[in-house]
Amino acid sequence: MSDALSQPTESNTSLHAHDAPLLQLAGVTKRFGGLAAVNDLSFSLQKGEILGVIGPNGAGKSTMVNLIGGSMAPNSGAIFYQGHDINRLPPNRRARLGIARTFQITQPFAGLNVRENVMVGAFFGQRGLDRARALHVADEVLERVNLAHKATFKGDQLTIADRKRLEMARALATSPQLLLLDEVMSGLTATEVAQAVELIRQINKTGVTVLVIEHIVRAIAKVSDRILVLHHGRKIAEDTPSQVLSDPRVIEAYLGERYAKKRMQDEVSLYSLTVEDVEQHREEE
Ligand code: ADP
Ligand code: MG
Repeated sequence: MSDALSQPTESNTSLHAHDAPLLQLAGVTKRFGGLAAVNDLSFSLQKGEILGVIGPNGAGKSTMVNLIGGSMAPNSGAIFYQGHDINRLPPNRRARLGIARTFQITQPFAGLNVRENVMVGAFFGQRGLDRARALHVADEVLERVNLAHKATFKGDQLTIADRKRLEMARALATSPQLLLLDEVMSGLTATEVAQAVELIRQINKTGVTVLVIEHIVRAIAKVSDRILVLHHGRKIAEDTPSQVLSDPRVIEAYLGERYAKKRMQDEVSLYSLTVEDVEQHREEE
C-alpha cells in the first residue's frame, strides 16, 4: 500500500487521546421539527473494530452518519474522535482527520469519469495533494474495489453495484481511519454482496475501523464484531451479532410482536431476513 493510502499524520494530540475510543457519541440528539431522528444516542467504537448498525427504515441510521461526518450538527450531545470533540468541525476537516463516509443515495459528479470522481475524494481527504499523486491514489483504490476497468466511464454509465464500488473508492481515496458505510450493499446480487463483505474485511485488515449500516442482516452479522440496533432514533441493543439477533426487543422492532411469538414456535432464523422481508410481513398483517 502506498504512503498516500496509509494513516494520516497525527495532529492535535491530547494527553489521553491515545487511550480514548476512536469514536464516541455521548447523548447525541438530532431533531427535525418535532421528530427526534437520533435520540440520546451513546456508543463508542474502538480502533480496528467493525461495528454493524441495523434498524428499520427511518430509524435514524443515515442521520447518524451525517452527524459523524459533519454534514449535520446535533441539537445536543457530543461527538469525540480520538478523544477530541469534533462537533464544530466542518466535513472537510473531519475528512482530514481520517473520517470518511459513503452516501446511501450514490451521487457521483455527473461531468466527471470514475477516475476523476475518485481523485476528488483524494483531494478532499488530503490537503496539498498534487494531481499526479491524486491520480496514483485513484488508480490504486479503483484496483482495490475492482473498478479499474471502468476508470474512464461516466457516473451514469455505471450499474448499481459499480456505483456502490465508486462510493467506496471515493471514501477510501481520502485515506480514512474510520470508514462509515451507509447501505453499500443494498440493491446488489448475492454474489456482489459476498464481494462487498470480503472487501470490507480487507479494508479492515489494513487497520481501518469500519461502521457499516446495512439492511441485509445476514451480511452484517457475518462481517461485524458488534451490532448496534437503532429504532426510532434510539439504541435498543448493542452486542455480538448472535446475541443481538436473538434479542426479543430486536426481533420485535423488526418483526412486530406477533411474528416474535411465531418465531418462538418456528425457530425462524433472523440471519436470513432482510428489512424487505419484514416490511412484506407487516403488509401481510
Ligand atoms: P434511516 O437511514 O435509518 O432509514 P434516516 O436517518 O434517513 O433513517 O431518517 C430518520 C428520520 O428522520 C426519518 O423519519 C426521516 O424522514 C427523517 N429525516 C431524515 N433526514 C431529514 C431531513 N433532512 N429533514 C427532515 N427529516 C429528515
Ligand atoms: Mg438510511
